[in-house]
Amino acid sequence: MTDLSLASGSTDIALIEETIDANFQRTVKLWGDRDAIVVRHQNIRWTYKELDARIEEVARGLIAAGIEHGDRVALWSPNRIEWVLVQYATARIGAIMVCVNPAYRTVELKYVLQQSGAKMITAAPGFKTGNYEQQIADVADELPQLETSVFFGRQSWNDLLAGGSEIDDGAVRERATSLSNTDPINIQYTSGTTGLPKGATLTHRNILNNGYFVAKGCGYTETDRVCIPVPLYHCFGMVMGNLGSTTHGACMVFPDEAFEPQSVLQTVAEERCTSLYGVPTMFIAQLAQPEFDTYDLSSLRTGIMAGSTCPVEVMKQVIERMHMDAVTICYGMTETSPVSTQTGADDSLEHRTGTVGRVHPHVDIRIADPQTNATVPRGVQGEFQTRGYSVMKGYWNEPQKTAEAIDSEGWMHTGDVAVMDNDGYVDITGRIKDLIIRGGENISPREIEEFLYKCADVEDVQVVGVSDPKYGEEVCAFVRAAANKQPDEQTIRAFCEGKIAHFKIPRYVFLVDEFPMTVTGKIQKYRLREIAMEQLSAGEAS
Ligand code: AMP
Repeated sequence: MTDLSLASGSTDIALIEETIDANFQRTVKLWGDRDAIVVRHQNIRWTYKELDARIEEVARGLIAAGIEHGDRVALWSPNRIEWVLVQYATARIGAIMVCVNPAYRTVELKYVLQQSGAKMITAAPGFKTGNYEQQIADVADELPQLETSVFFGRQSWNDLLAGGSEIDDGAVRERATSLSNTDPINIQYTSGTTGLPKGATLTHRNILNNGYFVAKGCGYTETDRVCIPVPLYHCFGMVMGNLGSTTHGACMVFPDEAFEPQSVLQTVAEERCTSLYGVPTMFIAQLAQPEFDTYDLSSLRTGIMAGSTCPVEVMKQVIERMHMDAVTICYGMTETSPVSTQTGADDSLEHRTGTVGRVHPHVDIRIADPQTNATVPRGVQGEFQTRGYSVMKGYWNEPQKTAEAIDSEGWMHTGDVAVMDNDGYVDITGRIKDLIIRGGENISPREIEEFLYKCADVEDVQVVGVSDPKYGEEVCAFVRAAANKQPDEQTIRAFCEGKIAHFKIPRYVFLVDEFPMTVTGKIQKYRLREIAMEQLSAGEAS
C-alpha cells in the first residue's frame, strides 16, 4: 500500500508547560549576566537581568493603570525596545497583547481596536509616513472602551512607568503566578487578501513552544546572537525571534526600526551575529548590495528563511556567500504559532534548499484532497493541514470563521498547496487560489519562478495567472532585472524555449523595479494580477 501524506513530529523533548514569564524567569536565573538584547538604532545593550528589571517596571505601570488579567493592550510600532518590553510585560501580567500592523491606517486601526476591545494602546509616535499620534486621536472618540493611549518616547510613557511605583511590591508576582499557560496572550490580525482581518488568538503554550522548537531547530544556545530585521508585530519577529532567543538564553539583536539591507549587513558584521532571519526578498536585497563583499559575515552559522517561497538559488547563495551553512527554511502561518515544518542542518543540500523540511515536534501534518478532504498518497498534491499544540485558540470573537478554518478533528486548513515525498519532506507548491489553469493544464507559478531564477538577466521574478478569453488564464511574469540587464519578453521566452513545456512559457512579461508587498515581506500576488489586468487592458503588454 502506498503511504499516505500524513506525518507526526518527534515527542522526544516534552512540550514546555509553563507561562511565558515563568520561562523567562528561568532564563534570567541561568544567564542573567549575559547579553539579552541589542537595539542598535536606540543604542541599547542590556543583559537578561537588566531586561528583566525594565520589563518589571512596565508590568507595574500596566497594573497601576488598571490593566487586568485578560484585558487587551494594543501595540502599534516598528521594531524598538519598547515593543519587546510591552510583549514581555503584558505576558507577565496576563494581558492579551494585540499586534497592530505598522502599515495600517485609520480604517484598519479602528477596526482592530474595536474588534479586539482594546482598553489601552501603546504606540510609537509614528513610523514612515504614518503619524500614529494623529491617527489614534482621529479614531479614539469612536472607541469608548479605549481608555488610554501611551506613546513611546513621550510623557505618557514616562507617566505609565512612574505610575508603577505606587503599587505593592508583590503585585506583579502575584499576578504572574496566577496565570495559566493555556490563557490567550496574543491576538495577531492576519490580513487575508480579501475580507476583513481576523484576529488569530494565541496562548502562552502556542507561541512559547513554537519559539522554543524553532530555535532548537537552529541549534541555539546562550552563546547565539540572533539578528532580527523582520517585523516584530508578526510571529516571525516576536515568536521565532524573541521567544526563540529568550527560551535558549540567546541574544536578540535588532539592526533597525524596519528592514534596510545595509544596516543588516553592518549589524551582522559588528555584532558578530551567529544567526540571521529574513523573508526571501530581504536576503535577495542583501546579496545584491554593491558593497556586499566588504562585510565580514563569517560569524554567521545559521538563520531562518521563511514567509514565502524560498527560491533554491537564493538559498544556495545564502549558504555559500553568507556563511549560513546551517540555515533553515521554516514554513507556517500565524494561525499555527507559526511554524509547522522546518529543514534541519543535517538534511541534504537538496532537501535544505528545495523543500520546507519535515514535520515539527509535537505536531501532526497531512496533505488532503481539497475536494474530498481525504489524505492523499505521498507524491500527490493537496491542501496542507496542521494539528496539535500550535493551532490557535481561534479567531477572536469569530466562532463561525474559526469553524471554517479548524475542522472538527482539529486540523487547521491552511489553503496552501503542498506535496509530501516518501521521506516526509514537504514542498509548498502554491496557494489553492494561485494555481494557474491554462486551457485545462494546471500550472504551478512556483515552478516557473524557480526556473526563471536561473536566468542571468533576472534578479527576482513573480508569476501570476491573468484571465484570457481563449485559454481561461495565461501565464504572466513580473521580472526585476539583474544589474545592467534589460530583459524583454523575447529574452525571457527564448530562455524558456525547449526547456519547459510551451504552455508554461510566460505569455506576458512586465519589467518592474519592485513588487507590491505586505509589511511582512509577502508579495501581494493578487495585486500583481490586478496590475497585469490593468496594463493589458490599457494595451501595455510587451
Ligand atoms: P502569515 O500568516 O502571514 O505568516 O502567512 C502564512 C502564509 O505564508 C502561508 O500560508 C504560506 O502561504 C506562506 N508561507 C510561509 N512560509 C512559507 C514558506 N517557507 N514557503 C512557502 N510559503 C510560505
